[in-house]
Amino acid sequence: MQSTGNRLKIPASMQAMVLETIGQPLVMKTFPIPVPSSQQVLVKIIACGVCRTDLHIIDGELTAPKLPLIPGHEIVARVVKAGRETSRVKTGEIIGIPWLGYTCGECKYCRKGQENLCESALFTGYTIDGGYAEYAVTDERYCFPLPSQYANASGSPLLCAGVIGYRSYTMTGKHAKNLGIYGFGAAAHILVQLAIHEDKRIFAFTSDGDVEAQKFAMEQGAVWAGDSSQLPAEKMDAAIIFAPAGNLVPKALSNTNKGGTVVCGGIHMSDIPSFPYRLLWGERVLRSVANLTRKDAEDFLKLASQVLINTQIKTYPLHQANDALNDLRYGMVHGAAVLVMDNND
Ligand SMILES: [Zn+2]
Ligand SMILES: [Zn+2]
Repeated sequence: MQSTGNRLKIPASMQAMVLETIGQPLVMKTFPIPVPSSQQVLVKIIACGVCRTDLHIIDGELTAPKLPLIPGHEIVARVVKAGRETSRVKTGEIIGIPWLGYTCGECKYCRKGQENLCESALFTGYTIDGGYAEYAVTDERYCFPLPSQYANASGSPLLCAGVIGYRSYTMTGKHAKNLGIYGFGAAAHILVQLAIHEDKRIFAFTSDGDVEAQKFAMEQGAVWAGDSSQLPAEKMDAAIIFAPAGNLVPKALSNTNKGGTVVCGGIHMSDIPSFPYRLLWGERVLRSVANLTRKDAEDFLKLASQVLINTQIKTYPLHQANDALNDLRYGMVHGAAVLVMDNND
């Protein structure tokens, strides 16, 4: 189909919020509209979620980002122009663009189906420009058509918080009934809907004294919510730590039954304090989850539309990206922060 109609008219320049210097606020800049290479598509961005990983990049906790960088890796966007060799996505279609932006397909990890660990991977909003912008280009092989109910701002948090939460959840094992979740933010509020649908009992641990987050967790269906220093009456069969605090690892292990898995779901965590071996003894497993595979995203998006997962979002215009980041940093967002671009249908 030819790109007719105002909707797909492409201007000469775009605005983006840019990280120029680590540790400094983002600045609004004007750029020429990027040109898609043969396997890329140009997209007009509808919305982009604000993820804790963006804070880790801005703060320099994740090293060697592309600079200057347009952050953002939870992108909902409309395809407005397709590169010469594209075939998967069509002009006019609304797609989701996640963190995993490119893999080599040849390294020892890619060959084993572990593309999330690819040695030459590129990541959206980290080593390639992301979605805090009006337009972006993306490799069509790493993006996904979105179920219609998520083809808008509400779909953004599914693309990282949702998918990484899901990947973490798959590591906790089918037999786990009592599931502990440390850090009740964007990932947790999505994941609990899936977990409760699968008859899990959710124990939500928040920063000490964060009664607002505890209330939010109970509203989302948790059977227990409290401070991370508290011990609930029952032990968990598995736990996922979304909060970037290493001191939660021994706490989670000591709250977990024998044979249980504790999954660290974040990309960065402060140092883990030493702990006695007895906390790991009893075949408890401690592991991390890194990035996502395309299959994780496909499986999760399908499940999300079956379970009818709802996301709770707090929206900001693009130029208020720094406010959104600060609100996330200081725990002012219950659910997910999402930048919503102007001039979309
Ligand atoms: Zn690879
Ligand atoms: Zn993320």
